[in-house]
Parts: sequence; C-alpha cells; structure tokens
Amino acid sequence: MKLSTIYLIVSLLLTASNALALDVPTASSTTQETVNRTTQQTANRTTQQTANRTTQQTTSIEAKIADQVKSHSERALSTLQKVVNINSGTMNFKGVEMVANIFRSQLEGLGFETQWVDGSHFNRAGHLLATHTSQSPNKPKLLLIGHLDTVFAKDDSFQKFERIDSTHIAGPGITDMKGGDVIMIEALSALQSLGLLDDMNIKVVMTGDEELSGKPLSASKKALIDAANWADIALGFEDGDSNINTAVIARRGSVGWSLNVVGKPAHSSQIFQPDVGYGAAFETARILNEFREQLAGVGDLTFNPGMIIAGTTINHNVANATGDAFGKDNVIARTAKVTGGIRALSLEELNNAKSIMQDIAADNLAHTSATLNFDEGYPPMSPTFGNKLLLELYSDVSESLGYNKVIAVNPRNAGAADISFTAGLVEMSLDGLGLMGSGGHTNDEVADITSLLKNTQKAAILIYRLSKSKHFGQSPLA
Ligand SMILES: [Zn+2]
Repeated sequence: MKLSTIYLIVSLLLTASNALALDVPTASSTTQETVNRTTQQTANRTTQQTANRTTQQTTSIEAKIADQVKSHSERALSTLQKVVNINSGTMNFKGVEMVANIFRSQLEGLGFETQWVDGSHFNRAGHLLATHTSQSPNKPKLLLIGHLDTVFAKDDSFQKFERIDSTHIAGPGITDMKGGDVIMIEALSALQSLGLLDDMNIKVVMTGDEELSGKPLSASKKALIDAANWADIALGFEDGDSNINTAVIARRGSVGWSLNVVGKPAHSSQIFQPDVGYGAAFETARILNEFREQLAGVGDLTFNPGMIIAGTTINHNVANATGDAFGKDNVIARTAKVTGGIRALSLEELNNAKSIMQDIAADNLAHTSATLNFDEGYPPMSPTFGNKLLLELYSDVSESLGYNKVIAVNPRNAGAADISFTAGLVEMSLDGLGLMGSGGHTNDEVADITSLLKNTQKAAILIYRLSKSKHFGQSPLA
C-alpha cells in the first residue's frame, strides 16, 4: 500500500468519529435513533473535537447529506420498483440493457459521462460505465461497482416487485443487487445536489454478467480491471451476507480445475501386475485421496471434486456439466475425468495449493498418467490492511449517523464477486454496502427496506469523507 493511503485513512479516522454526531437534525429521526445519537454524541464530544472548527463545518455538511438522502426516499423506492420489474436475467440481454439505460440517464443527469460497452465478444449483454472527473487531480479516485443482471431468467416464475409489509419487499434481484445500484446512485445524487460531486474523481462500473460471467474472463472483466487500474479505492454495493452490521473486506477466490487420468486397459485379472499397473480408476482415487490428506483443513482453503467419470470410454459435456461412461467389471479402466473447484483467501494460499496438487497429480502409479488443469477463475480479495482501515472508516460513518458499528463478514460467508477482480489493483476495497435482506438467488428474495435509507446515507458520507483527502496521488511527505 502507498504511504499516502495510510496517511489519508489514519487522518480521516482521527477526525471522523465525531463528524456527524454533533448536529444531525432530530426532526426526521425515530426515537431509537435519537437515543442512539445522543449516546454517541456524549461519547464522541471531546474538548479538542468541539474546538475544531473544520470538524464543525464538516459536521453540518454531513448532516445535510443525510437529509438530502432522506428527502429522496420515495424516488429511491420508485426507481427500485421500476428496475426490479424489468427482468434482467444474465442471458436476457435486452432486459439487462433496459436496466442499464435507466441508471445511465440518472448518471448523466448527475454530470457523469457514460458509455455502454457491448458484450457480444464475450456473449453477454455488456457493461455500463460512467465517469466523473474532478478538477483536482490529487483527489482520490473511487471505483463504484454494481451489476445489472440477476439469476432469474426471462421465463422464471419470480418476476415482480411486491410489498410484503411496511418494511419488507420481495423481488427478483432486489438485494442482489438492484437495491445496491439504487443506493450507489442516490448517494451520488445527494452529493451532487449539494455541489459536492464537483471535487470527486469517480468511475461507476455496472456489469451485465456478474451472475454468469462471459468467457473468456479476460474479455468480460476487462472494463472492471481497467477501472481498477485507474482507481485508488473500490466500493462494492452487493448485499454481502445481508447483515447491515457487516461489510466485506475479504472474499475467497474461486477457481475450477479438471483432472484427466489415463491408465493401461487390460483384463482385470492382470491388474497390479508390473506390466499392467493400476488403471485410471485407482490412480484417480489415489490423487483425490492425497488432495484431501495433504490439503484439507489448511488455512482458509476448501476444494471439492464435483463430478467423476471413469471407464473404458467416457464422454463429458462441459456446457451441461453432464457425462457418461462405458466400462465392464472385468476390464481395467482406461480413462477418468474429475471436475472440481477450489477456494482460497489469498493468491499465495491458492498458488501453494495448486503447486501441491500438481505434484500429487504427477506422482503416478505404474502405467498411469494424469494432467491437472486450472481455469482462470475469480481471484481472491484478501483482507488487506487497507481494506480493514476502510471498514473502520465506514463503521465510523455508521456510528456517527446513530447506526450500528460495522464489522467484517467471515470470508467463508462471502462468495466470489466482481470486486474480487479489483483486488491487488486498488489500495483499499470494501463490499457489501448495498440493500440488505434475505433469500438471495431464490424465489424468496426479500429486501429489508429500512436499510435503503441507512445504507444510502452511509455510502454518501463515506464517499464524501474519502473525497476530502488531499493526499492521494502524492506522498504526504512531499
Ligand atoms: Zn450480486
């Protein structure tokens, strides 16, 4: 991490905790929030902070941001209803682009330059890109990540936004992640209406294939990776583990592997003889068992063989993840195939596991051979120092609004997501800033709509605080 980042965050943390608590207007708050805020106020008010004029000023701006967000709650909900009611299953390209167009015109209204990146060369709809450039080159560069697609295909039975009760709304993709997209844009809108966007360098990337990535990944993730190369900080608006008191600082990477094994076919009566060997089935069993014995329980690693086929002849249909085999009890298996996945929390952990697996696959029983291949996969997002600091800053924002502390999601509960492709390219990243709820990826997907206001306020003030730094792009010691 650059020294400038540490300097930025530490200085922000030192001034952040009191920033909003002192003068949020009480008119629009609930009793509970008022109680929370009062407690917070007392806790945070130190002599030095009270005397700090810069902080006082900041305080009132942040209260205005929070109010601005609140005053547009109805608009946020109505956008959410509109986009949820448009089917945008990953392979419904027309629907994905329709959702993009709604966000596109909103972003243009905020002064962003937008671009639709056509996805035909990776067989997906495409991605929406939007850029806002500040006059001050040393402001931090923020990448905000959303996605337009959902897991619900055009013919799925689950298609509509439906109120359940005063705080719950069902809908396909409402939390994963059209709600997060709305939060992102409403946060930007609040900042824009107060003239605060002028000073910010922001790129928005809303992908059209998060749920089912286009191939090759080098093509489908290019827009995201290019933006990450430009950015200092990445913020993801996924629903994380759908707990408003957590956010994601680490996601395990996920990589597929396939093992192909060949043995010497012969009559089964000759198996184990020096000139015949053990056959493809036993060699496959040896390899998988060694994987388990050497790697199970190591760090945050998990791996799983999902499908095995073996016999005299086998057919594997990769697209459908199906296969069949022909083999006789009295013939030694000539061939075998295994497909599986592996998840790791850091590149080091992943590469170490890959190397051990390759060694195991190369140490063959007599008259057998094996090849082990790994696909491109999703890289891990490691829990870096920068990510932890960013979480702390976000938690401070939450507390100064009178909301709860925010802690890290257990990475075991956070699947791979688009933000993983920015890991290693940005200095800090944080995901799970979106709309909370339950039942993602199922017909029971329901949003807790109280999180719409809270997380929009939190996102807006987080972005504002990050933008205040003058220390990005240059050494603070320079
Ligand atoms: Zn998602």
